Amino acid sequence: MTDHPRRRVSDLLPASTSLRPSVLADEVLRLIWMERTISRAEIARRLELSRSTVSELVTFLLETGLVAEAGIGASSGGRRPITLEFQDAACGIIGLDMGATHITVVLTDLRGRVLTSAYSEWPVRTDPDGTRARAIALIDECLVRAPGAATQLLGIGVAVPSPVDPRHPERLSTLVLPAWNGRNGFDRLRARFDVPVFIDNDANLGALAEQWWGAGRGIADFAYIKVATGVGSGHVIEGRVRRGATGVAGEIGHVAIDPRGALCSCGNRGCLVTFVGAAALVERARTLRPEFPDSMLDPRHLTIEAIEAAALADDPLAVQVVADAAGYLGIAIAGLLNIMNPAAVIIGGGLTRVGDRLLGPLREVVLRRTFVSAVAASEIKHSELGPLGVAVGAATLVLEAALADPALFPTIGAR
Ligand SMILES: [Zn+2]
Repeated sequence: MTDHPRRRVSDLLPASTSLRPSVLADEVLRLIWMERTISRAEIARRLELSRSTVSELVTFLLETGLVAEAGIGASSGGRRPITLEFQDAACGIIGLDMGATHITVVLTDLRGRVLTSAYSEWPVRTDPDGTRARAIALIDECLVRAPGAATQLLGIGVAVPSPVDPRHPERLSTLVLPAWNGRNGFDRLRARFDVPVFIDNDANLGALAEQWWGAGRGIADFAYIKVATGVGSGHVIEGRVRRGATGVAGEIGHVAIDPRGALCSCGNRGCLVTFVGAAALVERARTLRPEFPDSMLDPRHLTIEAIEAAALADDPLAVQVVADAAGYLGIAIAGLLNIMNPAAVIIGGGLTRVGDRLLGPLREVVLRRTFVSAVAASEIKHSELGPLGVAVGAATLVLEAALADPALFPTIGAR
């Protein structure tokens, strides 16, 4: 989702090489990334290439700094081969998670590992200029802390709390983020850091992070549901994040639970988010507070964080609020299971912290509502990546693009 020109490593090989036209160097690089360490002989076997071809390609890749010769590999009888190792630290990637009320930045290596992170509460929805400036400051903060990665920055991935149309990634929903006037203005990031910027919806990127590094590893079909200020979902189907015809797939937060319910920001009534979004949970706790005189929740300072903390301490009011939310969430998830039949549903976002206090009642409701269709076999579990998951997913979007088009790697593209 960028206008970066598409090139091949092989386009950049010297004109004298016998390998053009060829995309083999890309294939070899991807294989080394996937295996982490591998010998030249094994590459030749796996890609069905001659040893001399592999040798020439590897010589090129060694010059890029993305691959290095490492220890001695396992011998199959003859001479013990030198193994090649992908250099995860060769480049850094910035992942920026722009929530409704916060900005999170991570700097990762080429294996999704967080080298450093920065966080700021921020009124993102109402302050586009301030958000962009604050994001740049947080990115600078991360780059200063890990100077090596800063000199070889691969790109910036951005998660936005709005649907993103893959054909127009610069646009934002005027309904979700009216103050932004439909434009993200992230060309400022591109100009400031001189790297490609990739953008996607936050729940899609939560799903991507789980697929690559978290609870979705090895699962071809799963749904990721982010429960935070808003509620959204990302869908991995047959191993790919599916964004729909115009990028709006997964707006589960606006599935109607009660058509006569409270008015939603989308103009409809009784959407899921009006029951389980952060504002709804705070309101629910306020309403129920008089019925729970012994609750530790202070009615004057009710926040979602306070509710989570109280639920973790088994405060009966907070546990009730979470269980109610689980009930509504369960109705929407049961619908999703009946239609999509994913192998797993992964719950992420702030509310994940309360663990089984949410997942327990959620599983019960889902089981009750899906017993006809045998989809109850679907596993419901929480995210393994914690509060940085979406930001890591944003960085992963950049990594995914670079492995598909290795010319994006600065040490290759500059040649
Ligand atoms: Zn709605």
